[in-house]
Amino acid sequence: MQLTRDGTATGVGPAEWFTGTVFLDTLASPSNGSRLSASSVRFTPGARTAWHTHPHGQTIVVVEGVGRAQRRGGPVEEIRPGDRVFFEPGEEHWHGAAPDRFMTHIAMLDVGDDGRAADWGARVTDEEYGGRAG
Ligand code: MN
Repeated sequence: MQLTRDGTATGVGPAEWFTGTVFLDTLASPSNGSRLSASSVRFTPGARTAWHTHPHGQTIVVVEGVGRAQRRGGPVEEIRPGDRVFFEPGEEHWHGAAPDRFMTHIAMLDVGDDGRAADWGARVTDEEYGGRAG
């Protein structure tokens, strides 16, 4: 048993991976053969990830607020507390907050053989975020 007391400083999402301000708290890190990586991610209104993929896919669970998510080629979906989204391995996608709402989700994934959690691409433009054809 390993008890980790709350109190680790909240991280801020790197500007090259996120548009807007995003706060990150680690919940689980890969160790001793486990590949599980989990985090709590709080997006400020309008903030979102860049386009990206995960080597083994990813599950997000919305716990607060209102958000948006999209896979490449699909519609922009509104997501709300209790909603779960699974992104397939290698499926290009983004997730974030609604324009006028915070959104917090728990994110869970298995890292790749090299410990990589994601491969990052282009930023999500305002047109893409707004659901209009670019
Ligand atoms: Mn993702």
